[in-house]
Order: sequence, then C-alpha cells, then structure tokens
Amino acid sequence: MDCVKINMESELSRLLNNLSLGDNSLECLTCSACSSRCTWFEGEEGPLPRQIVRMAALGLDQALIDSGMLWDCLVCNRCTQECPMGIQMDVVVRKARSLAAADGQIPEDIKTGIKNKLELGDVNGLTKEEFVETVEWVSEEFVDDVDDDQAEIPHDVAGSKFLYLPNPRELGINLLHLTAMGKLFYAMKETWTLSAFHTDVTNWGYFVGKDDITREMAMMVVEPAEKLGIETLVLSECGHGYHVLKYLLEEIIGRKPGFKVMSIPELCLEYAKKGVLKFDPEVHPYEIAYHDPCNIARKSNGYEAPRELLALCCKGVKELVPNRKDGICCGGGGGLLQDSTTTKKRMISGKPKADQMKATGLKHIAAPCLSCHRQLGELSKHYKLEMKVDTVAAIASESLVL
Ligand code: SF4
Ligand code: SF4
Repeated sequence: MDCVKINMESELSRLLNNLSLGDNSLECLTCSACSSRCTWFEGEEGPLPRQIVRMAALGLDQALIDSGMLWDCLVCNRCTQECPMGIQMDVVVRKARSLAAADGQIPEDIKTGIKNKLELGDVNGLTKEEFVETVEWVSEEFVDDVDDDQAEIPHDVAGSKFLYLPNPRELGINLLHLTAMGKLFYAMKETWTLSAFHTDVTNWGYFVGKDDITREMAMMVVEPAEKLGIETLVLSECGHGYHVLKYLLEEIIGRKPGFKVMSIPELCLEYAKKGVLKFDPEVHPYEIAYHDPCNIARKSNGYEAPRELLALCCKGVKELVPNRKDGICCGGGGGLLQDSTTTKKRMISGKPKADQMKATGLKHIAAPCLSCHRQLGELSKHYKLEMKVDTVAAIASESLVL
C-alpha cells in the first residue's frame, strides 16, 4: 500500500490551521460526531465529514480535491453544528474549494454562471436589455392581474423605498413567481423597484469559496442599490443569497451598507403585523409542511418569520422532524443543484428529506428558497410523494386580500 505523505506546509494547512478556534481544523479530536450527523450517511456515496477535516488538517490538499467530496458536500453545516471544537464545515470546504477553483477545477455550470454574473450581472446570462424587455412584458400582464391600469412592475426608479432582488428563476422559467411578488408589493402601497444593474440575488462566489469573487458579486448589489437611494433591499427567496446578503454582508464588504436588508417573507410579515397586508387562510384550507433551508435557518438563524407568515395563509403549519437547527438539507445545497450533471446524485442526497416529507402525511410543503423549491419538487416526483411544493411568499401572494 502506498504511504500518504502528510504536508503540514500545504496551502490548505496555511489557510486553515493558523485560524482561531472554529476555523482551525488542527483542533479536530477525530471524534466523528460530525460524521454521525451528515445525512448523506443515510444514502450512499457522499462526503465523509471527519475525513474532510482530517485531510484539510494534514495538508492533503490534492487528495482532498481529487476525492470529489468537496463538491458533493452540501455546505449545510449540519455535521459541525455540534462539533465539540466549534469547527465549521462550510469554512473548511469553502477554503478547500477555493484551491480547486484557483486551478479551474470547478463544475462547468458553476464556472459559466460565475462568468455570466461577473460580465452581465445575471448567472443565466440575461443582458440588461433582455432584463428590461422581460420586466416590461410582465408589467403589461400585471395590469390585468390586479385589475388596475395604473399598476406596474417598475425598474430602475431612483428613490424607491424598496429594491427587490429577484431569483434568476423569476426572470426565466418562473415569471409567474415575479408577478406574485409584484402583487405583494402592490398591496403594501409603497414605492418599489427592480434594477437592471444587478439583476439577481445569487452569489456563486460563495459556492466556490473565492472571497474576492464573493465580494465583487456582493458589491455588484450594494453599489447600484446605494446609487438608487433605496431604504430596504428586499431579497427574493434564496437560501445562500440570504446568508451572503443578509447574514455575512458587512463582513464580506468590510462596512455597513447604506440600506436595510430583509427577505420578502420577513417584509410581508412586518406589513401583516402593521395591518397593511391581509391574508385569507381559507385560500389554503389545509396544513402545509415547512422546510428550513440550511442557509436561512441553521446558518443565519432565520427560523420564525417564514413560519409565522405561512401560518397566516393556511390552516396550519406542520413541522418536519427534525427541524430548525437540526433540519435536514433538501439535498441540493452547496451548488449541487446548480450543477446540471448531479440529478441522479441529488435524488440520493435528498432521500432523507423525501422520507421526512412522506412522514408528514400531507400533500403540501413550502420553503422560503427557490432552489429548495426546485429540489423538493423533483424529490416529490422521483419518490412519488404527490406533494405540491410552493415557496412561502407565493403562498402569501395567493392568500392576499386585495
Ligand atoms: S465533530 Fe469536530 S472534532 Fe469531532 S471529528 Fe468532526 S470536526 Fe473533528
Ligand atoms: S453535506 Fe452537510 S452534513 Fe454532510 S459533510 Fe457537508 S456540510 Fe457536513
């Protein structure tokens, strides 16, 4: 058997072993608590958390990159939530991915999405002209949707109170979701706008662990938003977008942004509490199960607002077991969903989630993330669960009393 050469001077050791407790993989006790919490273990293949941390600690950079575990990891942090040494798997995996990315060793789709975003402002490659054309077309239809010929889906209106940052799916295959969000803003009776200068909420620099790209993409949101003079940046339902733009933003850009950041469910709940938005729960006269996106829940403490909003719009909210900080990833996190070659793999990584969905005995589930929404929909179909999957804000829009 070949001996594995340990390299304590490696690039990854340098990145990880000089850090404080929580980032320092040399502190690892090899206790395997992490491995017992990784839900990939209930399926097949997948990452081995303890092994990832040990390989990182021992400087086995290339062996770790070649193992494939880095890109299978869902970066969900379920494993290291209870790590006795406070080691965070997202830090370890993102640092290791950054080394692979420096050599161009990242999934092709993610590479293309990053290029599109940096060059055009949109991961799908939508140009600013196409963005304006799409929004103006949706706006024309919107007049009929709310039966008001003054209604519109505005873009690039300086001085608006809210700037809505959509998910790329809302500008492509799910335009109806954008209209649904438009209805919520319409009912709030406040000024709002979209912007052609930073069209979507994603930040794939976070997936590949490149701090410079993550910052550049964050600034592509911050600078035009500040130029428009908005009060609040309203994020579409996106797990990693929320984690980057709400939870980590100040750390990433090194200063406070000139606006507040809220997700669309958080904003709707605020306006419901003020008595401005009213919802009719009879529109959904059944219980709806709720899925915690890892990036919003465990990684950003965003547990309650989506649940509270959902509860106003249906007969009741049913918890998956386990949930909140112990919640199980949909199986598409960490960029796995964004890589079109992973469909088969995602049905394996998502099996524990599919089991949770089935155990509810319900026909409806909601998640405040359009990526989880897509993955849960595919799981429902693949495992024949016959569960309808919605986003929380889409449910709220359907229940809206105009
Ligand atoms: S739980 Fe923490 S200390 Fe234990 S093996 Fe995993 S990373 Fe190491
Ligand atoms: S998939 Fe989640 S639980 Fe498993 S190693 Fe990655 S971060 Fe940890």
